Amino acid sequence: MPDFTPRRCLARHFLGCLLYVMHPTMDSSALSSEIGIAFPDIQMPEKAALSFHKGDCPQCEYLRNDFEEYRGKEVTGDVIRYLHQELGCLSTDGLKWILPHYLKFCLTPEAEYNKMETEFMIYHLGPGLKSQEEIMLQLSGLNRRQIGCLIHFLEWCASHPQWREYCPEDIERALSFVRTVNA
Ligand SMILES: [Zn+2]
Repeated sequence: MPDFTPRRCLARHFLGCLLYVMHPTMDSSALSSEIGIAFPDIQMPEKAALSFHKGDCPQCEYLRNDFEEYRGKEVTGDVIRYLHQELGCLSTDGLKWILPHYLKFCLTPEAEYNKMETEFMIYHLGPGLKSQEEIMLQLSGLNRRQIGCLIHFLEWCASHPQWREYCPEDIERALSFVRTVNA
């Protein structure tokens, strides 16, 4: 998460400008259509298939149980908000289900106001050493087009005035990580 000491802020500002120069401005509506094509709307996976860990993980168990409430319903901002800190608890199928809703949500004014959902997606896609192996496994189930879409989402963040100033290091780390996923 960003550290806001003055030196770090200045360094971040330069990195943000660099990201902006390196990445063409991504158009939100083009990205939204790309998300729709790469991630067709699917049903929420069966309870046992929703979480990353199947056995002894309390966090995954909470997720499985809590999500029964949302089964068969429209994916609203509430669902995205509940999930933003739990992205690592989703199986690949769980991720495939939520991503089109989640990524499109990040393009809305509501997400620009809330900030947390977009921020946590950026962190999730650029994990620290400890969780890299699991996140790699989670993302490896996505196809090439879906990974391409995640890269475009991160490029959209890199060209976004708010995100490129706020957490350019995290965006850059996420871009490098997602580019190494073998889809
Ligand atoms: Zn778990």
